[in-house]
Order: sequence, then structure tokens, then C-alpha cells
Amino acid sequence: MREQIVSGILEYPWRDDEMKRIVLTGFRGTGKTEIGRILASRLNVPFIDTDDLIETNTGRSIPDIFHEDGEERFRSIEHEVIASLPPADAIVSTGGGVVCDPKNMEHLHRDSTVVLLFADIDTIEKRLLKKPRPPLTSLTLHEEIAAMMDRRRQNYYASADFCMDTSETSPSLAGEKILTLLQTGVPTEKQRNTALAFFKTGRLPPLPLKKLEDILTGPDRNPRTRIMGVAGYPCAHSRSPKLFNALFEFYHLDCHYTWFEDPELDEIMHVARTIDAKGLSVTIPFKHDVIEYLDEIDEHAAQKIGAVNTVVFACGTTIGYNTDWLGVRKPLVSMKGAKAVLLGAGGVAAGAAYALTDLEMDVTILNRTPENAKKLAERFGCSWGSWDEFDRIKPDLVVNATPLGMQPDTRNPLRVDQLHKDMTVFDLVYTPPVTPLIEAARAEGCRTITGVEMFIEQAREQFYLFFGIDVPIEKVREFVL
Ligand code: NAP
Repeated sequence: MREQIVSGILEYPWRDDEMKRIVLTGFRGTGKTEIGRILASRLNVPFIDTDDLIETNTGRSIPDIFHEDGEERFRSIEHEVIASLPPADAIVSTGGGVVCDPKNMEHLHRDSTVVLLFADIDTIEKRLLKKPRPPLTSLTLHEEIAAMMDRRRQNYYASADFCMDTSETSPSLAGEKILTLLQTGVPTEKQRNTALAFFKTGRLPPLPLKKLEDILTGPDRNPRTRIMGVAGYPCAHSRSPKLFNALFEFYHLDCHYTWFEDPELDEIMHVARTIDAKGLSVTIPFKHDVIEYLDEIDEHAAQKIGAVNTVVFACGTTIGYNTDWLGVRKPLVSMKGAKAVLLGAGGVAAGAAYALTDLEMDVTILNRTPENAKKLAERFGCSWGSWDEFDRIKPDLVVNATPLGMQPDTRNPLRVDQLHKDMTVFDLVYTPPVTPLIEAARAEGCRTITGVEMFIEQAREQFYLFFGIDVPIEKVREFVL
């Protein structure tokens, strides 16, 4: 036990085996260096400032490196320094831009707790005016801070295991608050018990439930473990928990991913906030309704598609994104301008229509209820019609966004004579991985893309939004299949 560290303030003992690196991220002027030194001295561990290390290693000041060699060279030196940081107990203060490089985030998250320090723009400006340094752009200092913070905000949030507002706090008080936060976690005992009761009323199998019980209320509870999950009803079939938990293990992240299954979205969002969840994947039937629970939504998700499948909680803000459309777009980038038929006009079809039109395709939406096809087509400037119009269109690409072929349904949305070898067939259904449509298309010699590819791509994008790490596609595939 580190007696000298815990004396005085903390009820929750800091065990030796719990200590890991604590990494501070945040914009310049949020107090990383000063607070980092205080934490290092309170915890009796080394303090490492990555900007100092860069200057020591190169024998030059950072402004000189920027001025003489440019930002790209600086970022590459910075990355070498981040990659060479010791994995041992230490407090690491990082430069303001490290969070933008996914490779940096892979190193900084590993076996570490990352605390994002943030402050309002006026406070940052006041602090920076005390130690002027050459501006990075031609904007005023206030404008420069606002623009850079805005550009990096998503990355800052993705870096954060915990957040600390340092605007109106002295460095020593901020240090104390961080120590308390890391040793008790955010939710109170009562809140953790309430959350556990929610999970117990759901359909969680015994093992995942036991795991949650250990994390929330067990005697060896680690207050720094962050909980995330898939929100839906039903969602017990979701592959996301398997994938995300495998990725957490692979990247050494102190997180656990579970199922938030409940007919009431209100209840799910309440529990997620109560236990300070880091993020949620959102699935049927909540992709649209979740929008009213968000403080912000990205332009693709809200304004255009009207659906959110990813929610990030950070620094008291709840932000929604849509990565489904990227899951459709990515496997099709080589087909820019193609003639496409989209089967279906539901929630997933909206993301697919956005992806296909973004690739400048000539898109016709065909649907069982033509009126629904018309509504969707009008939103995205596509043609529309009923299913029997397929034959006259002669598309290069067919995307199935209906549930036809999804287990236990064995129906094929197209007849075999409607397929030909020059066609690309993308079935968004991914249970089973090879659907009757994919099987028939392969038999006809078509290029095929399975729904698993969409799932992999959208999950990869989600992981980036949650942690700022770019997972190689092969790694995701390995863990999904
Ligand atoms: P949805 O909102 O319920 O929409 C379903 C669409 O399919 C509607 O246009 C509906 O037509 C049509 N449809 C339903 N049953 C039909 C039938 N028997 N015959 C012909 N058309 C039918 O569903 P969704 O959320 O868009 O999901 C669609 C599918 O996408 C899911 O089943 C799932 O397999 C797949 N999906 C894949 C991924 C992935 O990562 N690969 C992610 C999410 C979903 P009406 O307008 O006439 O009702």
C-alpha cells in the first residue's frame, strides 16, 4: 500500500497492483505540466513531459523544430517519443496535438488511465498570454484556440478515460480532485447498485452478469474500469460485445463492453449516464429516437441520415454519430458513379442511400411499399419504384437493405435470373454471414460483399470515435469471425 500517497484524503485504498501510467491530455494552457508534477509528487512516481523529452532528444526548442522543419517532421519526432515512453508507473503530460495521431493513442491508452484536462477558451487565452509563443496561424490567439480546439475536440474526447475541468480550479485542487476521481470512480455506491439492478432485469446470461457485478460492486472493483455497450431491444444477438471486449484485451484498455437491452430507451440512457459509460453503440429500434438525448450530432448522422448508431459521453457532453453509412461506403469506393439499385427503404437503407449518393452513383430505391421508397428517394435525390422495376434498370450494383435472408428467413430478395456476372451484390444482412442472396450471386459469378464487411467497417469507425485508435481491418475481421 502506498501509505504516503493515500494519507489524508482518500477512503478508497490505492493498491500497488492497480497503479498504472496516468496520462494527461488536453489543449495548451489546461494545466497538464503543473498538475502532472503535483500528481507525480503525490504518488511518488516519475513525471514525464513529452514536450520536454522532444526538446532534450533533439537539442532544439519545439518552436524551432516547427519553424525550421515544419509540423509534419515535428509530429514524427513526437510520435517517436510517445512510442518510447516506459510502460512503468509514471505521470505523463502530453503535447496538445498528440491525440490526433491514432498511433499515439494506441501507445497512450495502453495499460494507462488517460485524464483529459479541459478549460474554457477565455481561461486558456489568459494563461497562454502569460507565456507567449509564436502563433501557429495568422488568426488572433482567441480565434486560434477556438479553431484548434474545435478541430481536435473529437480526438480529445476519444482520448479521455476521465475528464477534469481546470477552468476555475488551482492546480493543486485539480490534482486532488483527479486523485479522488481515480480512486473512487464517478458513480456512487448507490448509483452502481441501481445500475446493477437494471442489468439484472435484462436477459444477460450468467457469465456477463457476474462480470458486471464484479466491476460495479465486487470487493476487488477497479473504479477506473469504464463500461460501454450496445443499446437496443432486442440486442442479445449483437456481435459487438465479443468484438469490443477482444479489442480491449488486444489494446490493453481498462474497459468492459456489455448489452444494454431494454424496451425503454429512457431507462438505457439513464443507466448509461448513472454509471458514467464511455459510449454506446445504438441499434434497433433506437437509432432515430436517441437523437433527442444528445447534446450534439455529427452532420452525417443527424442532418442527413436522421439516425445515430454511436454515442460518445465525454466532459459532460453527449454526442451522436453515424458510422453505418461508412460501413456501406468503404467497400464500394472503387464503384464511384455506378448505376445502383437499393432494395429497401428503412433505417439502414437511409445510411446506404447517403453512402451511394456520396459516391455519386445513379441510385434507384425499390421497396415493397413504393411510397416509402419515394420518401427516401426525395431526401437523397434518387429515383424510386416498386420491386418489379428491377429488370428494366440493369444495375452494376445491388444493395439489399431489407431483412430478407436474415436467419431464420431463407428467402432470396432476387431471382437467380436477375443476377449476372458483371453485377456487384452487397447484402447488408450479416446473420448468416453468407446469405441465400450472396450464395446465389457467387454461383452466378458476381462480385459479392457480405453484411459482415459493413459490420466490420462501421465497428472500426466506432472504435476510432471511442478511443482515437485506428484498428487494422484484419484485426477486426479476426475478432468478429
Ligand atoms: P427496417 O427499418 O425495418 O426496414 C426494413 C426494410 O425492408 C423496409 O423498407 C421494408 O419495407 C423492407 N422489408 C421488410 N420486410 C420485407 C419483406 N418481407 N419483403 C420485402 N421487403 C421487406 O430495417 P433496417 O433497420 O433498415 O434493417 C434492415 C436490415 O439491415 C436488417 O435486417 C439487418 O439484417 C441489416 N443490418 C445490417 C447491419 C450490418 O452492420 N451489416 C447493420 C444494421 C442492419 P416496407 O417499407 O414495405 O416496410
